[in-house]
Amino acid sequence: MRKIITYKTEERIINFDEKSIKYTLLFKNVRNLTCRFKNYENKLYVIAPINYSYRKIEKFLTDHQRAILNWVEKSEQKKIELTRDFVDGEKYLLLGQEYLLKINKVDKKQEEGICFDSNYIILKTTKEDKEYKRKILEKYYKNIAQRIISEEFQKLKNKYSGKIPYSSEYSLNIRKMKAKWGLNNSRTKTITIGFHLIFSKIEDIDYVIIHELCHCAVRNHGKLFYSYQEMLCPDYKERKQDLNKNIHPFICQIEMLGSLI
Ligand SMILES: [Zn+2]
Repeated sequence: MRKIITYKTEERIINFDEKSIKYTLLFKNVRNLTCRFKNYENKLYVIAPINYSYRKIEKFLTDHQRAILNWVEKSEQKKIELTRDFVDGEKYLLLGQEYLLKINKVDKKQEEGICFDSNYIILKTTKEDKEYKRKILEKYYKNIAQRIISEEFQKLKNKYSGKIPYSSEYSLNIRKMKAKWGLNNSRTKTITIGFHLIFSKIEDIDYVIIHELCHCAVRNHGKLFYSYQEMLCPDYKERKQDLNKNIHPFICQIEMLGSLI
C-alpha cells in the first residue's frame, strides 16, 4: 500500500456569498480532492493532490458550499447549546447521568461545594462570580475523577493481573487529554486515563482501562490484542459506541471546566 505523505499545510479562507470560512489545506499524494469537517475541532479540512491549483480547489469548495455551510451552522449551534454560564438549568454529566445545575447562594458561615438531589447538581457558593463558580465545580470533578478512576484501575488491575502479562507492573496517571481516552506507555510502565471519562458510564471507564491494560501484553491492535480484549470485555463494541456518541459533550465540558487536571 502507498504511504500517504503530507507535503504542505496551509491555513486559508474561502469567501462564499453569505460567509467566509477558514480551512486547513493539506497537500498530499492522493488522487482525489476531499474535504471533511471535524466537529470536535469545529474546523474544515481540505485534502488536495499535490499538483492541484488554488483555483481548482476553490472551485470545488464553491461547488460544495451548501454542504459546508450546513456543517458550520450545525457545529456553531452545538457550541451555543454547550456554552456554560454556571446558571440554573444547565446540563452536566457525571458517570453517564445527566444533571441540571441549581445555584444555591450560601452565606459565609455555610460550606461551599457540590451536592446532589435527584436530577439536580447543586452548587453552593458565596459568590455569583462565574469564574468562582467554575472553580468550585472544577474542584469537585477533579476529586471525583481522581477517586473513581483510581478505584476502577486498582480493581481491574488486581482482577486481571494473572490474565494479562506485565499488567501488574503498571501504575496509573489521570490527566486532561483531548484527543484520546487512554494511553499505555511501556517505557515508563504507565497507563494514562483522560479525566473526562468521569462524564461517562462506569462500564465505559472500565472498558478504556481494560483496553489499556491489554496493551501491557500486546502493543499493537492485532488479532492477539483483540482476543484479550474480547475475553475481558465482551461488550467492548457497545462501550466504544457509547463513548463515541458522547465524546462531543465530553470535549465541550472539558473546555468549560478549563484547566482541570
Ligand atoms: Zn489501543
